Amino acid sequence: MAEFDVVIRDGIIIDGSRMPRFRGDVGVRNGRIAKIGRLRTSDGAKVIDASGQIVAPGFVDLHTHYDAQLFWDPYCSISSWHGVTSIVIGNCGFGFAPVHPDERERAMLTMTRVEAIPYASMKAGMPWDWETFPQFLDSVDRRRKAVNILPYVPVSPLLTWVMGLEEAKRRPPTEQEEREICRLLDEAMEAGACGWSAQRLDPNGPACVQRDFDGTPMVSDLMSDDTCLALARVLGRRNEGFMQMTLVSGDVAHDMQHFEKLAELSGRPVLYNVVQPRDNRPFIHRGAISWLDSCRQRGLRVYGQAVTADTGMAFTFENWNLFDERQAWCDATTGTPAERMTKLADPERREALRSQVPRVITEEFDQIFVTGVERSDLKDREGLTLRELGAREGKHPVDAMLDLAVSDSLRTEFYAPGPNQNMEYMKEVLDYPYLIPGVSDGGAHTKFFTGGQYPTEFLERLVRERNMLSLEEAHWRLSALPASCAGFRDRGLLREGAPADVVVYDYDKLHVRDMEIARDLPGGEWRRVRKADGYRAVLVNGEVTIENDAQTGRTSGLLLRHGAMQ
Ligand SMILES: [Zn+2]
Repeated sequence: MAEFDVVIRDGIIIDGSRMPRFRGDVGVRNGRIAKIGRLRTSDGAKVIDASGQIVAPGFVDLHTHYDAQLFWDPYCSISSWHGVTSIVIGNCGFGFAPVHPDERERAMLTMTRVEAIPYASMKAGMPWDWETFPQFLDSVDRRRKAVNILPYVPVSPLLTWVMGLEEAKRRPPTEQEEREICRLLDEAMEAGACGWSAQRLDPNGPACVQRDFDGTPMVSDLMSDDTCLALARVLGRRNEGFMQMTLVSGDVAHDMQHFEKLAELSGRPVLYNVVQPRDNRPFIHRGAISWLDSCRQRGLRVYGQAVTADTGMAFTFENWNLFDERQAWCDATTGTPAERMTKLADPERREALRSQVPRVITEEFDQIFVTGVERSDLKDREGLTLRELGAREGKHPVDAMLDLAVSDSLRTEFYAPGPNQNMEYMKEVLDYPYLIPGVSDGGAHTKFFTGGQYPTEFLERLVRERNMLSLEEAHWRLSALPASCAGFRDRGLLREGAPADVVVYDYDKLHVRDMEIARDLPGGEWRRVRKADGYRAVLVNGEVTIENDAQTGRTSGLLLRHGAMQ
């Protein structure tokens, strides 16, 4: 009998602790790393030849929305294709538990806009064999999975369960309701949840961009500081779990103080979303980093997640919904495609649409491109920017864009590059060592955007091409740092005794492929994906889930209750 189930032979080992790389073998037994060093190849039932390749800890993705997808795609792609071995679901306060049976339809409708998950896929692909949060965890536990999963309790369903949707959007909970909300969080934590999450984009603030399916704000947008503090106290009392929050009230000082209060009150980590380097507005990321550093110096566990991924968006007005921070645009882009078409064509609405131009457009008339036109006689518009299109037709760029979209039955595809193209600013963000790379938003907005490729992209673009940090540092940030912030108890490093979550890749060949359309969702739906090149193998709990960039079909991922295998 071989001593090891798998030997990864003769790789360059980067263990994720920031120690210098070294050449050696990794022996895996019973799902764990049994030995690192020089091993006899004959001792492995399976041998993976890693000569010349990097061997490093699997990546840990703290910000995903695979809450629906995990039920039809055990691989939670595209994350797993890019070396991610553990994910956290239920981010931003959105998810599907607890949900009363008569509110399931509403819960799915909500997710069609706020995270843009296709309704037909949820309808066809979700088993709904739960009501409470502990029952949801049992259902996730029973599924085959090719990644490990850590689950947040999302606040929107939690508040809705106790108060009802309409009430939860109208007023804060009564004392009695708050007690019940906290009791349910306690019960969910007892069952193995990792903490709670909330996205709070004040409807009167500058950024309420992700809304309910009818254009109204989400429950989490409307919740109060006090409710958050009550939820933080639950984690503090348990001395367990962590919080994830996006908070934009329009008052930056208030928002920062609120994060500090959550951390102080609970003693638990709080993940601040997000630090995004934005072209033309460097004061935003600089301000966030100096504040995070002051938290660090005061011993407050507030950690930032940085947007290192390419956040470029491709979209058509058939389903686009990320101009929602401007009411006129939100109104004009709700409803069926036919309803949208009528509204976007309506001359009465244009004045408001022109005067409330979404931030992404104002900054980027010169950068938003027409990338695809369906009607053959309008094809010559392809490749033009909105400004060029407007100049050519003697119209305001907004009118030019909407007239083209309407005359093309809303099929015209536009592309808006991400606001983080300035590589000097990206370097400033990476120079702060405690920011967690990301943000993938895996499973969300998949008709517009992919972010799940961020680990491959980080290594390819920022480390290999631009040399912004060392590989040792990069692997610490992609695995150990997020794992520690999020309470994974024994993952994020290659060390003897740890679960064998491992990536083996060819550093020179590592590559993110171009965005493509995949028609692989249930209910006949489609999404955008990006594939990877260069992954020789990905191991999850000691089994090979990806080999030579292809899924092996092995589903060795686990629900990590309380942050660990049970
Ligand atoms: Zn999110």
